[in-house]
Amino acid sequence: MAGMAVQRRGVCLVISAPSGAGKSTIANALRASEPELSHSVSVTTRAPRPGEVEGVHYHYRSMTEFEAMAGSGALLEWAMVFGRGYGTPRGPVEDALASGRDMVFDIDWQGHRQLRAALPDDVVSLFVLPPSLGVLEQRLRSRAADDPAEIARRMRSARDEISHWREFDHVIVNAELDRSIRNARAVLQAARLRTARQPGLAAMVDSFGA
Ligand code: 5GP
Repeated sequence: MAGMAVQRRGVCLVISAPSGAGKSTIANALRASEPELSHSVSVTTRAPRPGEVEGVHYHYRSMTEFEAMAGSGALLEWAMVFGRGYGTPRGPVEDALASGRDMVFDIDWQGHRQLRAALPDDVVSLFVLPPSLGVLEQRLRSRAADDPAEIARRMRSARDEISHWREFDHVIVNAELDRSIRNARAVLQAARLRTARQPGLAAMVDSFGA
């Protein structure tokens, strides 16, 4: 029965990590090799870093606009991180799920909890640990995108984020980037192949007379 359309539920792949663990690099590499994978572009009240582009890395909004979005239900989940608002716009996620497209979310542990509660059948999650806190701090410094006070704040928050690692389905230690990317791809691929995610196969199997 070649050519039979096979329906499949989309995967919501949540990747969380303390800031600087390499989660964005891993997510970007995944997207580069998986053109079908869309990225959930969050709303944030923080200012763009150099090189960041409105609508690509984030939707940059004022706190007033952010609160209005949260209040009207336009955000599927939202949280305060480092004193700023971060949230996931609802529309693109619902579109992706409806059309069976997979989506990757770069959100924190609070977002993961809320997304899992909202979409229990669709979320697959991956936590990225740094090999050590020293490596984490080094990466934050070499990124040089944030000032020293911001780096200190992110180091304090790192332990808090890491303390939630057991809530995630999968965990990797990002010691070697290539291996981490391969492992993240394997997590996504396994999620795609879950039986419950491929209800459309029932018609094909029925045609086997099985
Ligand atoms: P950054 O400012 O470094 O881009 O992100 C800071 C933190 O906010 C990261 O841990 C990131 O995962 C988290 N974050 C980004 N977008 C969202 C979102 O839409 N919802 C939640 N809950 N967290 C987010």
